[in-house]
Amino acid sequence: MGLLEGKNALIFGLANDKSIAWGITQSFLREGANIGISYAGEVMEKRVKPLAEKINCKWVEECDVTKDDQIKAVVKKAEAHFGKIDILVHSIAFAGRDELSRPFHETSRQGFLTAMDISVYSFVALTHAFLPIMNDGGSVMCLTYGSGAVKVAPHYNVMGVAKAALESATRYLAYDLGPKKIRVNAISAGAIRTLAAAGVGGFRDMYKHFADKSPMRENVTIEDVGDAATFLASDLSKRITGEVMYVDSGFNIMGVQMVEDKGE
Ligand code: NAD
Repeated sequence: MGLLEGKNALIFGLANDKSIAWGITQSFLREGANIGISYAGEVMEKRVKPLAEKINCKWVEECDVTKDDQIKAVVKKAEAHFGKIDILVHSIAFAGRDELSRPFHETSRQGFLTAMDISVYSFVALTHAFLPIMNDGGSVMCLTYGSGAVKVAPHYNVMGVAKAALESATRYLAYDLGPKKIRVNAISAGAIRTLAAAGVGGFRDMYKHFADKSPMRENVTIEDVGDAATFLASDLSKRITGEVMYVDSGFNIMGVQMVEDKGE
C-alpha cells in the first residue's frame, strides 16, 4: 500500500514537466494519492492540461493567486470534486527579472510588493481558504530556498527576502493549525533548472557550484524533492511541523559558498 493511499492532494504551481510541482505530482501518484492540479492562467494551460491528461488527472483548475475571487472559486471546485482534502502544496514564486539581476538596493516598491504577494501572501491566503475543507491531520507545504533566505545568494535579492518571509509564515501557520493536527512545513530545494530559476541572474553558475561544493557533490532533481514532499505529506512525519527541510545534497551546511559572479 502506498504512503498516501486514499489521501486527496492539491498541487499549486505546475508550469511544465521541469517544475518541482511535477516531481511532487509523480511521487504523490506513485504513493496512491488522488491528485488535483492548479495552474496560473491561460499561458500555462496549454502546457499543463496535456501533462494532467498523461496521468489521468480529472481535476485541473486555473487559479491566479493574486486574485481573491479565483482562490475562492478554486476552493469551491475542490470541495465539489474531492469533498475534503488532506494535502496542500504551494510551489509558486515570482519576481520580475530586473529585480533578480540588478543590485538588491535598487529593488522597486512594486517589484517588492509583487514578489511578496505572489511568493508569500498567496501561501497564507491559500492555507486560509482551504482550511474549512481540510481534514484534521492534513499536511500543508511550500517550497523555499533557504540558502537565499537566511544567507545571501547573489542576485536572489527580493526573492531571498520573500523566502525568509515565507519560512516565517510557515512557522506562524504551523502554530495556528497545530490544534487541528494539520502540519505546515517548507522544503528548501537545491538549485534545479526550471522556468522560475531561469529568471535568476547567474543561475547557471549557481547550479554548477551546487554540484561542485555540496557535500554529496551532486545537484538535486525534482524527483528528490517529490519524495521529500511525500514524506512530509504522509503520516510518517506526523509530529513534524513548522520546519524547513533542506533537500540540497547538504549544500547549506557548508561555510564558504561564494559563487564567482559572472553575471550570467
Ligand atoms: P516553475 O516555474 O516550474 O514553478 C513556479 C510556478 O509559479 C509556475 O507554475 C508559475 O505558473 C507559478 N506562478 C507564478 N505566478 C503565479 C500566480 N500569480 N498564480 C499562480 N501561480 C503562479 O519553477 P520551480 O522552480 O518549480 O518553482 C516552484 C517553487 O520552488 C517556487 O516557490 C520556487 O521559488 C521554489 N524553488 C525553486 C528552486 C529551483 O532552483 N528551481 C530552488 C528552491 C526553491
